[in-house]
Amino acid sequence: MTDLSRPAGPKIIAVANQKGGVGKTTTTINLAAALAEAGKRVLVVDLDPQGNASTGLGIEMEDREFTTYELLLEDIDLKSVVLPSVTPGLMIIPATVDLSSADIELISNEKRSFLLHDALRQTAMDDFALDYILIDCPPSLNLLTVNAMIASHSVLVPLQSEFFALEGLSQLMLTIREVRQSGNKDLRIEGIVLTMYDQRNNLSLQVEQDARDNLGELVFDTRIPRNVRVSEAPSFAMPVLTYDTASKGAQAYRLLAREVLSRNSVKVA
Ligand code: ADP
Ligand code: MG
Repeated sequence: MTDLSRPAGPKIIAVANQKGGVGKTTTTINLAAALAEAGKRVLVVDLDPQGNASTGLGIEMEDREFTTYELLLEDIDLKSVVLPSVTPGLMIIPATVDLSSADIELISNEKRSFLLHDALRQTAMDDFALDYILIDCPPSLNLLTVNAMIASHSVLVPLQSEFFALEGLSQLMLTIREVRQSGNKDLRIEGIVLTMYDQRNNLSLQVEQDARDNLGELVFDTRIPRNVRVSEAPSFAMPVLTYDTASKGAQAYRLLAREVLSRNSVKVA
């Protein structure tokens, strides 16, 4: 049965930045947990062969029998690939290093850029009654990231508050423009979030100033502070919202979730 209160299905957001170590996985896990805490049903799709989102959400290696690799390349039962996490309402499709070969295997597939789009829109997905799908992208603008962007309504970009932070953005924006031309004309920018922000550090202030001057309303008001509890949480296999619910990091991700829930995605030309 179609639920008429949810005519458009889940909102799908790709968390992307081709730089490694900028906070993509941390933001995916904790924004997803904060949305779930706010009562939403959320699915994280781990699209990075490193599988850090899967680990951070408590999925052991031996429980990753079916992964995003099978989701993309095989006909599988969604019930065997969508796993529960420690957070109620938050589910995950895990990844393993198998996914690293997908980028090459996909090249000869004529639907190569649309595999994730189609997988996430199969009717069996309705059974999960999702409100949000967050896709944790690899640190590259490869075919996996293109799949994520083709599948998504918007792209959320974590920007690490450090020198050269803005340098890679023009390449990322170019890829978003190409994706708009090649199959997802309505792709929007959900927003740019400053991560690992340290307000005692002049560099953080400078990056924020540059970002707000150049990107204006695209930049979320919320800044994610550098917070040791955020970096400790994955080794305890849980979001920081569970690991230390009152920490500055947890509070910041709740504020980010509030912004995502309230703002409409912004479109840039
Ligand atoms: P990416 O997915 O972009 O490669 P990660 O989310 O894995 O980046 O973050 C890179 C590293 O920085 C990780 O060790 C993570 O724990 C740490 N980190 C991310 N965000 C924060 C934060 N707000 N405070 C402290 N450490 C953080
Ligand atoms: Mg990552």
